[in-house]
Amino acid sequence: MSRSHVIVVGGGLAGLTAALDCAEAGARVTLLEARPRLGGATWSTRRGDLEIDNGQHVFLRCCTEYRAFLERLGVSDRVHLQSPLAVPVAAPGRGIAWIRRAALPTPAHLAPSLLRFHHLPFAERLRAGRTARRIGGLDLADPVLDRVRFGDWLAAQGESPAAIDGFWDLLVRPTLNLPARDASLALATKVIQTGFLERSDAADVGWATVPLRALHAEPAARALRALGADVRVRAPIDALVAGNGLRPAVRVRGETLEADAVILAVPHDDTAALLPTAAAVDREGLRALGRAPIMNLHVVFDRPVLPQRLLAAIDSPLQWLFDRTQSSGLVGGQYVAVSLSAADEYLALSQAALRERFLPAFEALLPAARAAQVLRFFVTVERAATFRQAPGTRALRPGPDVGVPGICVAGAWTDTGWPATMEGAVRSGHAAARHTLQGLGCAPLSRTAAAA
Ligand SMILES: Cc1cc2nc3c(=O)[nH]c(=O)nc-3n(C[C@H](O)[C@H](O)[C@H](O)COP(=O)(O)OP(=O)(O)OC[C@H]3O[C@@H](n4cnc5c(N)ncnc54)[C@H](O)[C@@H]3O)c2cc1C
Repeated sequence: MSRSHVIVVGGGLAGLTAALDCAEAGARVTLLEARPRLGGATWSTRRGDLEIDNGQHVFLRCCTEYRAFLERLGVSDRVHLQSPLAVPVAAPGRGIAWIRRAALPTPAHLAPSLLRFHHLPFAERLRAGRTARRIGGLDLADPVLDRVRFGDWLAAQGESPAAIDGFWDLLVRPTLNLPARDASLALATKVIQTGFLERSDAADVGWATVPLRALHAEPAARALRALGADVRVRAPIDALVAGNGLRPAVRVRGETLEADAVILAVPHDDTAALLPTAAAVDREGLRALGRAPIMNLHVVFDRPVLPQRLLAAIDSPLQWLFDRTQSSGLVGGQYVAVSLSAADEYLALSQAALRERFLPAFEALLPAARAAQVLRFFVTVERAATFRQAPGTRALRPGPDVGVPGICVAGAWTDTGWPATMEGAVRSGHAAARHTLQGLGCAPLSRTAAAA
């Protein structure tokens, strides 16, 4: 192809994917990222002698495009992907029940675990199995699904409040960053159908064994530079001009850069502010997607307290716990990261208040924590970790085409059919690159086309 110039704005997973696709297809790519680092919502920093992530990230085996992204960067050996799924679920004083996949065809693969899931009364386990089958029968294309709260739908199936807040929340809160009660039935159905019902191995859990910067930002920067891309950090764009026959252009630090196409891969509220007036996108609709926070507690104990690499908690304010000792470089003791999704209720609390609230919860959940000393306790918060994945959001998520030649949008918040996840971000990057390359008259690479 001729050397068309594509500017990608935003160095999160969506922007990195789009930039790689365009550069591999032969375009001259300039990637502009406002912050001093790439990786977007997935980043790492040093805290004394610890290397920490802004928040624990996990993926499932069904996240095929994200896994292909890792393979493309040559870093698949820097994640651990369970085979088979095995998640211990603990409740204070009630020990552990395992969610495991059995060597049975779907949906029977989860039945033995569900039948033994002693945190729910037996009748509720049977009901949960029946409800899961009903979710499997829902039609994701039905617009009604996005008008209903998952919790209301579950209650209508006879699910008890305890089952909604205990069992269903376990699956939906970490994937949609909203309590199961409040989430969109459409998005919850997507999670359960794709993650648990379509393939028996779909829900095997994966996570990074290195800091996120060594998984995404650094290898992606290397790959882009090897393809000749111009990668600039500390490069916030404050204007995007296009339409009326003009070549698209962005303004960055007073400099105007022109291109044949611009891919805007920034969060939805930044998109609303930056899109040119000619764009056929409802800006108020973008803002109405809202934001939902994720908080992580980082706790260093003087000895091992968490026997598993990950643990889900119910009837406890602790939600998902991860052993990050190895990836953080800690020598001696154990570093546990606790991921708190939909963390709105904790935002106003001081670090001391959070410590006071959560340390007793560790002791209640983990017997070994009772004798352990806490050497360090600190908190990271991402106030806009995802959009609020509530009913009514499907119609607010545009696809890549915003109706202005030479401009398209990407991001986990766009209309990917997926929740706001790393998988959604990568898919949106492919979709934006495909749209851009088609507009430039270039054939997308097979990888980009395959993700359609
Ligand atoms: C704490 C936390 C935990 C999470 N856990 C999980 C998980 O377990 N599993 C999962 O799949 N997902 C998880 N997510 C969600 C996932 O990280 C995001 O959905 C995904 O990374 C978003 O990628 P993106 O490229 O769409 O957007 P972003 O990563 O937000 O990237 C957008 C980029 O645009 C840049 N930008 C903004 N404005 C400008 C501008 N004017 N000029 C230039 N650049 C600009 C930003 O600085 C940013 O780097 C989590 C998110 C957080 C915050």
